[in-house]
Amino acid sequence: MKELPPEFQMEYRAVSCKHLPELQADVDQLHATNKIHNNEVFQSYIADFKYQAPKDLPEAKFVIIVAVSKPIAKIQFQYKNKAHDVYIGSPYYESGYNIEMVQESLRKRLNLPSKFKLVHNRKLHLKLLAVRSGLGKYGRNNLCYVGDMGCWVNLYAFYTDYDGLTDSWEEIETMKYCKTCNICLNNCPTGAIREDEFVIDISKCIPLYNEIDGIFPDWIPKTAHNALMGCLKCQLTCPGNHKALKGITILEGMNEQETQMILNGNILEENVQDICQKLKFLDPEDACRKLKMCDPDDFVLILPRLSRNLKAIILREE
Ligand code: SF4
Ligand code: SF4
Repeated sequence: MKELPPEFQMEYRAVSCKHLPELQADVDQLHATNKIHNNEVFQSYIADFKYQAPKDLPEAKFVIIVAVSKPIAKIQFQYKNKAHDVYIGSPYYESGYNIEMVQESLRKRLNLPSKFKLVHNRKLHLKLLAVRSGLGKYGRNNLCYVGDMGCWVNLYAFYTDYDGLTDSWEEIETMKYCKTCNICLNNCPTGAIREDEFVIDISKCIPLYNEIDGIFPDWIPKTAHNALMGCLKCQLTCPGNHKALKGITILEGMNEQETQMILNGNILEENVQDICQKLKFLDPEDACRKLKMCDPDDFVLILPRLSRNLKAIILREE
């Protein structure tokens, strides 16, 4: 079984399953104080979260939260003799590794005897688990920062029936930088980050709109769009990402013809494969759940979003 390629960093913490009710209590508290927004798209992302040992490993002793570096990407579009550098958020392009590699590397790092299981689980609030485990700290923008990797990480949770791990459980903490910093508050183009409230107003967060089909709501300023998928206004100048910023992935650029085809939302069949490969694009609806290369069929599905988002950046229109 293959391990993670060496250019990716990996860190982890183990949390005893005894803490699962406390995790549930954290989430219940957020619900009780109306801090989890009822936005339909956001709710669909978290609807099936469960804070109990999974059915496929009821005897689980620990849940291990793992962070693997996943830099943001930058791609250059040529349009009308001008080069446009456009960012792609960390979750939206193919990372160069998969869950099996993460699992194998973790097994090696833990020195886990083969008789013990390591079962991947997606039904947990991973950022909260990372912060509670001490692996990461929250930023004011509600993202989870993990050491030098900043907030550009993929998080994974694995349950194990091995009981020889050290339990790591901490109070919820924010980065020390945030005590004296307002950069993300000032840079957020929609007011999603609030001065008087730690939990951001997720209904104003741009990725919730540029990940899915449809017309952007009128209240998003035309100048707000800044990434082909996702939004990086609260991340690019964040001190917590200072070191991670040096590792941006540079993708192969798009020529005038390719850019125009994406803007038109109409790509000639013979160009689809090439453009998919250059973008290393993931289906955004799937991106947080499963890592897979974009194949031409998926690309046709996401092309309208891509076209709309690129127009919003290059042409400043919807
Ligand atoms: S920009 Fe500043 S306040 Fe916002 S998350 Fe980063 S360090 Fe914290
Ligand atoms: S992702 Fe964009 S819209 Fe959301 S909080 Fe950050 S800057 Fe604001």
